[in-house]
Amino acid sequence: MAKITLDNLAHSYYPNPKGEDDFALKELNHNWADGEAYALLGSSGCGKSTLLNIISGLLHPSQGRILFDDKDVTHASTADRNIAQVFQFPVVYDTMTVRNNLAFPLKNRGADPKYIAQRVQQIGQMIGMEAELDNRARGLTADAKQKISLGRGMVREDVNALLFDEPLTVIDPHMKWELRTQLKSLHHEFGHTMIYVTHDQTEALTFADKVVVMYDGRVVQIGTPQELFERPEHTFVGYFIGSPGMNVIPAQVSGKRANVHGSSLNLGRGYGDLTGKVEIGIRPEFVSLTQGKGLPVTVRRVEDVGRHKIVRADLFGHEINIVASEDMPISADMNRVTFDPNHMNVYVNDWLKVGEAA
Ligand code: ADP
Ligand code: MG
Repeated sequence: MAKITLDNLAHSYYPNPKGEDDFALKELNHNWADGEAYALLGSSGCGKSTLLNIISGLLHPSQGRILFDDKDVTHASTADRNIAQVFQFPVVYDTMTVRNNLAFPLKNRGADPKYIAQRVQQIGQMIGMEAELDNRARGLTADAKQKISLGRGMVREDVNALLFDEPLTVIDPHMKWELRTQLKSLHHEFGHTMIYVTHDQTEALTFADKVVVMYDGRVVQIGTPQELFERPEHTFVGYFIGSPGMNVIPAQVSGKRANVHGSSLNLGRGYGDLTGKVEIGIRPEFVSLTQGKGLPVTVRRVEDVGRHKIVRADLFGHEINIVASEDMPISADMNRVTFDPNHMNVYVNDWLKVGEAA
């Protein structure tokens, strides 16, 4: 298990990158704590696999260093880094039995046969394949093969880090939940440093202690699920996390007040005079649909999603979402919204601006 340091790291797939746009991974500097479970979350193409493969040693960064427990491993091989990695699609030895596939990483490192037998049994149980341990891998479904890949990734207890790159893509939906739970319990049991790549916020938020949100080759925020919810540091985090995501509304801000199409709102904190692209971010959970007081809206649609209602409305030509409780009647004269001042965030050019306490 190791602390992972990303020092001045960046990567371009071009031999002579011209500008920032040529970098699939823009410069980053971070320390990832030993024994924590991280999720790398972002949409397809944002650089998640690039970063993961640099950490595992499959890819050499065009700039910067990577350290495990303060030791420079930038040029070390994956084997020397002592890492287990599981990919999106199964990698199994078809001619071997399930048991031998699972045992492979242990045999390779010369582990004691008694220990191997017992550990393989344990992993077989975790991935729900105990009954198939003596079957050959050939002929198994993609789903079963991927479970073997996952099992092989988890079999060694002495790795520095366990890396998963969208490992549940080909897994059946009901088994996904089961396997994610297993990975979590594995983490609790052994305390490995784990990095789990996904584009699915639910997967990231349920798996990880810390979620690393990536957007366009950049890490835009690292935080607990709660931090990402309450204080998105970038508007992308606001949109991407939550369902529906945060409302982002153009505004002018001066001191403690925001002006939205001529209506003035109290922000609770002071911001001075802001210039650039200025926006207010407010989660649908902190917007209330009311009568008589607040900003004028036109309700377009009400969706009942079980635990609550989602109201889709129009605010000065801008779509706004409101989460209302399931039992709240929504009448035609409810044509105003108010925002909870404790949950309003201010953004300048997409980045969070922290105001001064009033
Ligand atoms: P993600 O895993 O988040 O979907 P990737 O890290 O695979 O994203 O890709 C990030 C960017 O780098 C994308 O624009 C992708 O097209 C590009 N890219 C990925 N792999 C290569 C490669 N081997 N050669 C050139 N460009 C690549
Ligand atoms: Mg990828």
